[in-house]
Amino acid sequence: MEVLVTVPHGFCPTRMSRECDTRAGESGSKLAEALREALPESVPVKLFFANTERKIGDLNRRATRYTNWRINIQNTVEKALAEGKSVLLFDVHSFPAECTSFCKPPHYKIPQIVLLDENDYPHAELMKRVKKSASLDYANLLRASHRNDITVQARKAGAEAMLWEFNESKNVLSEQKFRAVAHELAQYALDKFKAIK
Ligand SMILES: [Zn+2]
Repeated sequence: MEVLVTVPHGFCPTRMSRECDTRAGESGSKLAEALREALPESVPVKLFFANTERKIGDLNRRATRYTNWRINIQNTVEKALAEGKSVLLFDVHSFPAECTSFCKPPHYKIPQIVLLDENDYPHAELMKRVKKSASLDYANLLRASHRNDITVQARKAGAEAMLWEFNESKNVLSEQKFRAVAHELAQYALDKFKAIK
């Protein structure tokens, strides 16, 4: 098994304008850390952190599939699968604490975390566990857009892929709660590893 953590929008050259996911870099690193702690050494946890700005090209779109950054991710996925390993990919993002697209009727609450899952919500149970163990008041499970190309392409090759979004306000999603979420995701990866062994 191999685990990939991808952060396509985490490159924030300035704090002046919002052209990046401001909490994604930190979240991706901490998630990778939690995964490495939970998993045996034989399971590589590979972190892919984009170092170009989103305005130059959104690395989570089909148009950037053939950039070196994307090719490297997909080659890693396909190589592991070709070796008979299973692949788990976490695509990590963050969003501002404002009522934007994740803020849905009927209550229009700003979620603490969002999981953009596949059509039939295969990770609904995982979301329940995450919500419970991190004591979250409001987590949003939504259907992923076909535009989220990193997860789309990885799934097509045969990987299990999820897109996680974290609230950028530490008043809304505290550091402690974030760590609890990362811990639960790492436990999920460990369970998957044990199941395929
Ligand atoms: Zn993003």
